[in-house]
Amino acid sequence: MSFQNPVFIPGPTNIPESLRKACDMPTIDHRSPLFGTILHPAREGVRKVMKSTSAEVFIFPCSGTGGWEATLTNTLSPGDTVLAARNGMFSHKWIDMCQRFGLNVMVEDVTWGEGLPVDRFAEILTADTEHKISAVLATHNETATGVTSDVEGLRKALDAAGHPALLFVDGVSSIGSIDFRFDEWGVDAAVTGSQKGFMLPSGLAILGMSTKAMEARKTAKLPRTFFSLDDMLTGYAASAYPYTPSVGLMNGLNEACKMLLEEGLENVFARHHRIAEGVREAVRAWGLDICAASPDLYSNTVTAIRTPEGFDASTIVAHAAQAYGVAYGTGLGDVAGKVFRIGHLGSLTDVMALSGIATAEMCMVDLGLDIKLGSGVAAAQEYYRAKPARTQKAAA
Ligand SMILES: *Cc1c(COP(=O)(O)O)cnc(C)c1O
Repeated sequence: MSFQNPVFIPGPTNIPESLRKACDMPTIDHRSPLFGTILHPAREGVRKVMKSTSAEVFIFPCSGTGGWEATLTNTLSPGDTVLAARNGMFSHKWIDMCQRFGLNVMVEDVTWGEGLPVDRFAEILTADTEHKISAVLATHNETATGVTSDVEGLRKALDAAGHPALLFVDGVSSIGSIDFRFDEWGVDAAVTGSQKGFMLPSGLAILGMSTKAMEARKTAKLPRTFFSLDDMLTGYAASAYPYTPSVGLMNGLNEACKMLLEEGLENVFARHHRIAEGVREAVRAWGLDICAASPDLYSNTVTAIRTPEGFDASTIVAHAAQAYGVAYGTGLGDVAGKVFRIGHLGSLTDVMALSGIATAEMCMVDLGLDIKLGSGVAAAQEYYRAKPARTQKAAA
């Protein structure tokens, strides 16, 4: 592999120079007041990126998966019922975690490539007149299939049913890249990590909790120690942590929030949409199918591309790494061998995207697929020329 080429995996994403520098700092005493000058602005920055004025933000030194665990253990008790849909590897893994914690998970299985079944959830919630369901889990952007689900619609379904269940959202591959509205959508827990939209190395789980979710922790009986929000709040009140925080990463997070807010969240989302559209134009020109079942589900952070029947899509990923030193995402779970993924989130420009499209094309031609060199690149070029980026400045 090459250290020079950008990566086209849907996380970890490319790290802008300014953020690498922000993470690279001398040791400071995390029990001194100096730490507060990193901690508090980072929490405030995350709150803004999540479009919230009231969310209680927590930052744990672990990967995003820890954010799922922090959410569940602080709000639920063994035997509690949660409702979730399985439409890809990440929603599957969150369900698996719930089951391992002894929660009763009502699983709605949907075809991978489909979104969260809002109508079906509406029926289930309406039928649950005794309010047995304590929480609804939603994977906003299913990274395995490149599908963005309708969290706003889910909130409306909860409200229409008059159902008090908590709404937990996995926003790991959407927050900071795809529009996410914590307050407006009535999200109770939003989970993300440092290595996707925030463009940092992996190592921080980032969590936003609503007042209602914070209340739930008072009766929740699942055990938590490392992920105790109470311990964390005690720490935050003293500008400190219950253990040793990842200070460099948090400094990077503070800087990442500034970058995103300076570019403007709407511009960030528009940039992701543009770049994604160029990639999708390329896929169309190749004559291949997008895994996401319909355009309303297309993800602006990752595109999973179906390869022809009988062709092992994972060979593209292996060949790209070996021959060109470029990384793409492989197919996971139900779609293993059937799709490869182009990640297009975080610090990315048209020029970078074009190089990813061009290299994917070389790989597919090398491996004997009936694709014309330059066809996808030309389609993306046409798109990018027609819709020039006005806000590329802060993109990389
Ligand atoms: C990457 C990802 C995760 C897992 O995050 P880790 O930081 O690897 O623990 C969870 N959910 C989604 C949707 C993701 O894309």
